[in-house]
Amino acid sequence: MNFVYKTAIEYSAASDLVRECLMETNNWRMMLPEAEKLSEYWEYHNELYQVHWVGDETQLVGAAVGAANPSMRLNIAITLTNTGITTHAAITAILSMPLTWQSIVQRGRIKDYFKKVCHKVIDASRALFQPDSLPVLAEIAQQYPHTFEAFTRMNAVDHLERVGRLDQTWSNIRAATASGNGVMSSEALDGVYEVGALPNQDYAGSYDLIYAGGGLGLLHAVIMAQCYGYRVLLFDRSEVGCAHREWNISREELAALVSVGFCTWAELRPIVMTEYDTGVVRFHAGTQANSAELWMKDVLDVALDAGTLLRLARQKLEAAGGVILDHRLFRQVRVTAAGPVHVAVDVANVQGAVETYRGRLLLDGMGSISPLALRRFAGQPFAGVCPTVGTVVSGLVEGDAPNEHNPRIGDILLSVADAQRGQQYMWEGFPGRDDELTVYLFYYDALNTRTAKTSQTLSANGQNSTHPKASYVRQSPNLLELFEDYFALLPTYKLPGPDFQHVKPVYGYIPGRHSVNRQEAPLLRGVLPVGDSAAQQSPLTFCGFGSHVRNLDRTTSLLDETLRQDLLEPHTLRVVNAYQINVSLNWVFSRFMQPWGTLHDVNLLQNIFLGVLNDLGEDFARRFFRDQMVWSDYHQMLLGVFWRYPRIVLIAWQVLGPDGVRQWISDYLVYSCAALVAWWGHQIGRTRLLTLAETLSRVAPRVGLRLRSALAEWKAMGWG
Ligand SMILES: Cc1cc2nc3c(=O)[nH]c(=O)nc-3n(C[C@H](O)[C@H](O)[C@H](O)COP(=O)(O)OP(=O)(O)OC[C@H]3O[C@@H](n4cnc5c(N)ncnc54)[C@H](O)[C@@H]3O)c2cc1C
Repeated sequence: MNFVYKTAIEYSAASDLVRECLMETNNWRMMLPEAEKLSEYWEYHNELYQVHWVGDETQLVGAAVGAANPSMRLNIAITLTNTGITTHAAITAILSMPLTWQSIVQRGRIKDYFKKVCHKVIDASRALFQPDSLPVLAEIAQQYPHTFEAFTRMNAVDHLERVGRLDQTWSNIRAATASGNGVMSSEALDGVYEVGALPNQDYAGSYDLIYAGGGLGLLHAVIMAQCYGYRVLLFDRSEVGCAHREWNISREELAALVSVGFCTWAELRPIVMTEYDTGVVRFHAGTQANSAELWMKDVLDVALDAGTLLRLARQKLEAAGGVILDHRLFRQVRVTAAGPVHVAVDVANVQGAVETYRGRLLLDGMGSISPLALRRFAGQPFAGVCPTVGTVVSGLVEGDAPNEHNPRIGDILLSVADAQRGQQYMWEGFPGRDDELTVYLFYYDALNTRTAKTSQTLSANGQNSTHPKASYVRQSPNLLELFEDYFALLPTYKLPGPDFQHVKPVYGYIPGRHSVNRQEAPLLRGVLPVGDSAAQQSPLTFCGFGSHVRNLDRTTSLLDETLRQDLLEPHTLRVVNAYQINVSLNWVFSRFMQPWGTLHDVNLLQNIFLGVLNDLGEDFARRFFRDQMVWSDYHQMLLGVFWRYPRIVLIAWQVLGPDGVRQWISDYLVYSCAALVAWWGHQIGRTRLLTLAETLSRVAPRVGLRLRSALAEWKAMGWG
C-alpha cells in the first residue's frame, strides 16, 4: 500500500548550498529530531532503517528501507531548480507499507500522520536557510573548532545554534544586570505580558491550568491532572518530552515521585540508568599539604534517563486527559485586571499562526531565559549562575586512579587545577549506562556583585610562598567558550582510552538567587513560575531537578488549595513555590567558589572546608549536599572553618565586601528567626498544626494557606 506526498517549495539559498545542506546527514537530525543515527542504521520510533541518499546538481534521490521489514519503505525524490537567488524544489515522497488488515483499517490515520511528518520536515529544512542560521554556524566552526568538530561527530550540530541562542540571551541578562538599570531588549520584555480585559473571542480551548514549557513543568502538570483532576494544557516550543539533560538524584529524594502519586517504583525501574556505590568530593591540592577528600554514599548516586522520565510523564498527562501541544512558541499572556484571575495565552505554531487558549493560571516553566521571568524582574532575574557544559562519554580508561573511570564511583564535585581564565573550573562525573560517564565542566558566577564584573582584573597580595602575587583577568566564559575549554581540558580530568567517544552534549545556564527573600519581586498576576524560571534551588548545589522533585508534593498540594479557595492573587499565590530558607543562605558559600586573590584561593579554602566536613561526619556532609541542613549545622560548619583557618574572617570581608557582609548578617538573622519559628512548630506538633490549618482553611483561608505552606516547607527541608 502506497501513500504519496507531493509538494513544491522555495528555499532562500542557491541550489548548490541547498544540495550540500540536504546531503549533510548532520542536518537530518535537525529536520527530524526523533530520528537517531545508530552506526549504519537510523532509528525512528523504535524501528531501524537503512538509508541511501545520492544526488547531483539537480536531483536528490533517496530511500529508507526497514531493516527488519524491507517492505516498509520511504522513497524521496527532490528536483532542484536554481532561480538565481533562490532554489525551487519539487518534492515527492512515497511511503510503502505491507498490505495488512490493520493498515487498511488505519489508512486515513496513516495518511494524516505521514502528511504531518512531511510538513514538519519541510519546515525544518526551510529553517536551515534562514538568513541568521548559516552564518552563525560558520562562525562557530571558525571560532570554536574543537567544539564544532566534536558536535559534528556527535551528530549534534543543530544543538550549536541553541547554545548560541542561550549565550546571546544570557549575555543580555549579564549586561542588564551589570548596568544596574535592568534594560533588556524591548523585544524580550515588551508585549509578553498585559493586564486588562480578556479578548472577547473564540478560544482554541479553555483549561484550568496552562503550562508553558515541557521540562520540569511537565512533571508538575501530571500531578495536577492525574492526582487533582484539573484540566491541563501544556505546550513547548520543541517536542514535549524530549530531554536535553541528564539528571542525578539520590534514591531517597526520588521516592518523592512515588509518594506524590506520579508513578510507581516499577515504572521508575527503566528510568534509573545506574546507581553507583559511593561519591567523592575532591579539590586540587597542588603543592599544599592540606588535601582532604570527602567520600559519601547516597548523594546524587542515581543516574536517571531524563528522556524516558519525560516520555513517561507525557504519556501520563495524556492519559489523565491533559492536552499537549508540541512546537508552540509562547507569545503573550493577557490577565484580567480585577475580579477572578483568568488568563488568555497566545502561542504561535510552526507556520506562525497564533492560537489563543484561556485558563485560570499560566504556569511558567520556560526555564532560565523565560521571557516572563525577565519581565517580572525587569531583565535582572538572577544573582547567581552556574554555566555548565559537558558530554556523555564512553571509552575512558577504566581503573581506580582519580583520572580513570570507575563505574562504581561518582565524582560529585571536583577540581583538577587552579583557576583558569580567572574562574575556578569544577568537574562532575556520573556513571551512566554500560561504560558511559556523564561529565560536566562548570564554574560559579555572580551577576550583581563587586566580584562578578566580567573581565575584571584582580591582583593579589601574595599570601604564601607557593602562591605568590598573581595577576589575572576574570572572564565569564559563555557556553561556547566553555565547551572549547571542555574539549581541551577533558584529558586532565579523565583519560580517554583507544575507543573513546563523545556520545551527546549537555549544557545550560543554571540560575540561582542570592538572598533569603522568598520572592524578590512580586509575582505577575496570573503567572506562577515553576522550575528554573522560579530558580528556588540552592545557589551552591544548583540541583534544580532535585529541588523540584523534593518539593513537588508541596507545590502541587498548595496550588490545589489556592485553586479551590480561589486565592490566585499574587500576594496569596506567592507561597506556592519550592523555596527553602535552609539553602537560600548558601549564596555566601557560592561566592567563595570564585577566586578572590590568588589562583589557588578556592582550592585552598575548599580543602579546609572538606577537612571540617570530614570531622563532622558523613551524615552531616550528606545533609549539606542534599540541601537538608538544619540550623545548628550552619554554626558547626562556620566555627569549624574558623577554628582551622582564622584568616577566613579577613577573606570573608575581602570576598563579600561591606555590603555583602551586611547582607549575610541580616540574612542570618532572618534564617535564625525562621528556625526559631520552626522549632516552636515542632514543639506544638505537626499533627496538631495540620488540624489547625484544616480548620483555618474554612474560616480564614489565607491564614490556613500560610500555615500549610510553612508546614510543607519544614517537611521539604527535613525540619518537621
Ligand atoms: C548540564 C546540566 C546538568 C544538570 N544536572 C542536574 C542534576 O544532575 N540534578 C539536578 O537536580 N539538577 C540538574 N540540573 C539542573 C536542572 O536540569 C534544571 O534545574 C532543570 O532542567 C530546569 O528545568 P526547567 O523545565 O525549569 O527548564 P528547562 O529545562 O530549561 O526547560 C524549559 C522548557 O521550556 C521551553 N521553552 C522555553 N522558552 C519557551 C517559549 N518561549 N515558548 C515555549 N516553550 C519554551 C523549552 O523548550 C524547554 O523545554 C542540571 C542542569 C544542567 C544545565
